[in-house]
Amino acid sequence: MDLSVLLLMPKKIIALDFDRTLFDTEHFKIALSKSLKKYGIPPVLWRQTYERSIPKNLIKYQIYRPEKHAKIIQKLTKVDAEKILDAFHKVTKQASKFIYKETAPVLKFFVNRNFTLYLVSFGDCAHQRGKIEHSGIAKYFKKIIISNKPKASIKFPDKTIVVDDNILEIKNLYKKYKDTIILVWLNRENKKTKLPESIIKIKNLKNLFKLYNFRTL
Ligand SMILES: [Mg+2]
Repeated sequence: MDLSVLLLMPKKIIALDFDRTLFDTEHFKIALSKSLKKYGIPPVLWRQTYERSIPKNLIKYQIYRPEKHAKIIQKLTKVDAEKILDAFHKVTKQASKFIYKETAPVLKFFVNRNFTLYLVSFGDCAHQRGKIEHSGIAKYFKKIIISNKPKASIKFPDKTIVVDDNILEIKNLYKKYKDTIILVWLNRENKKTKLPESIIKIKNLKNLFKLYNFRTL
């Protein structure tokens, strides 16, 4: 896509995804898996039961349910689900440790330049709210939307820049809003996926600076 389209942005809204976009979900999951060691539960058991705690109809979107997970682990280990959940909550309280190092500088940069930021996060509401609340970055956002619905069901204002790492979300948003919003696919893992030209592809959140720099040329 020709980035000059960004020069025409009237409202300067950026809607950012949370997991794997601003937040290192993989490292957070590793910490969750290790949190049960004190009860003699190995991380591998956490991993093996993880997928089963995601409702089948939502598996492609990876909606995790810690309460369900705790119950599954309780059945297998006889460790009280309450204790397991408590261990999970302790990790959640440290969510700020799992924010990518470039996240806050990038958010700050855009807020200081009068961009309006939305956080649009997908997932189980209470769990997701806990992560966001303890992440230390909520203050940068004018609006925080936590939803169990795909992002294409949200009506974004015209010319909103939507940043997401999830290819499925990007494809669905493209189908529905390709003429009204600006899509940015954050491809941290350098996946070789063909996407339409008009979708901006970046490998690191810091590449968003380029969008702004272009505006000032
Ligand atoms: Mg994501």
